[in-house]
Amino acid sequence: MNTTSVSISFFDFERNNMKNKFEAFHLSPEIVKALSTLHYMEPTEIQAKVLPVALDGKDLAAQSQTGSGKTAAFGIPICENAVWEENRPQALVIEPTRELTVQVKEELFIIGRYKRLKVPDLFGGFPIDKQILSLKQKSHIVVGTPGRLLDHVRRGSLDLTCIKTLVIDEADLMLDMGFIGDVKQILKELPVCQIMLFSATLEDGLQELMQECMKEPVTINIETHVKTVEKIEQSIQCIPGDEEERAHTKYHAFLNTLIRENPESCIIFCGTREMANVLCRKLGRDGVTCGVLHGDIEQQDRLRTIDGFRQGKFRYLIATDVAARGIDFPNLPLVLNYDFPTGKEAYVHRIGRTGRNGEPGKAVSFMTESDIKMRQMIEEYIHLEIPETKIPEVTEEERKLFFETQKEKRKLKKRKGAEFRQSIM
Ligand code: AMP
Repeated sequence: MNTTSVSISFFDFERNNMKNKFEAFHLSPEIVKALSTLHYMEPTEIQAKVLPVALDGKDLAAQSQTGSGKTAAFGIPICENAVWEENRPQALVIEPTRELTVQVKEELFIIGRYKRLKVPDLFGGFPIDKQILSLKQKSHIVVGTPGRLLDHVRRGSLDLTCIKTLVIDEADLMLDMGFIGDVKQILKELPVCQIMLFSATLEDGLQELMQECMKEPVTINIETHVKTVEKIEQSIQCIPGDEEERAHTKYHAFLNTLIRENPESCIIFCGTREMANVLCRKLGRDGVTCGVLHGDIEQQDRLRTIDGFRQGKFRYLIATDVAARGIDFPNLPLVLNYDFPTGKEAYVHRIGRTGRNGEPGKAVSFMTESDIKMRQMIEEYIHLEIPETKIPEVTEEERKLFFETQKEKRKLKKRKGAEFRQSIM
């Protein structure tokens, strides 16, 4: 689903009279035109399943993964149903993090652009007065984090009386981060409306929310995890020794793996913010430039890092699970689990960053004694035994090539929607 790899433009599409398969959903021409400009020519699995239910106004709960195209799955119906003449918000999208709020807002803005839909985003750490001002103008679809949304509701700056659809995105993360109370609070303020819930898992806490708040929701399950992981070349490197030795050996194993693979880009997962910082400093000392993404980093810097990595300003991104969740990056050739994941779903989420759209993908996980149980759980979950490989020893030549590559000037990729922005200019 890497949109940058497709080279036709909307104008080629019109000229060659290519059919956009989204037309089958009887969407308005403005929406189909925006989808064509985005090179969304046919629905992904989740879109094919969600669109008919959502356009029919039914409540739904969809289990879906990062990269499945779920933003458009809810974005298309809410943009389709939005009425331009109505000044008050007609749809509300709740996101767990600021980065996701920004990403989702951008996608909805593009999908609704030819209908001239206004999509303000509301999150903490940004001056509330400016947000109040933007809400005073036309606001068709509002996207925000729970705390800030609730703040606006209490101040009376966010009018919920015309909301027709509520989207609760990344609901399991919302639950883990303790936001469900705020979500329920927002729900109490809403008129009767359609509710769409998207989540990686539909665990007990969410079942409860669904029973309390939704009307006979249609459950949509995208069984992608087994399919996804089967295509990825996975391996584990066991790190021996006591704690002190391990830190050294693990870094050695990791760096040698990175040197051997010398990937064009790669995401490196760490278990904690501290570890992410330590690893970034170590790599920096060794002459490898990385971006870091975790919750302690200033929001503006996080957004800059996400943008920089998407554009390819630097090759490697070190991230924690929560910070990277839901963030859309193009397909990556390699994922490294510097710290072993602490949940089976997290493993699938992490490695799902590679091997997309039929492209080759590799995932290497570094494991210590304390991760043995988790490894078993993961292997049961994905119905696969992950092979163990030796810590690689690299040749001088490999090392030289790797460090020379680090010094190469980067060719920047176009931003998503760049062509779109050009076309509306
Ligand atoms: P999401 O899961 O919403 O973050 O989307 C993952 C990636 O898929 C994003 O880069 C989207 O731009 C892209 N995408 C979504 N829907 C489609 C589609 N129908 N065709 C091609 N790419 C898509």
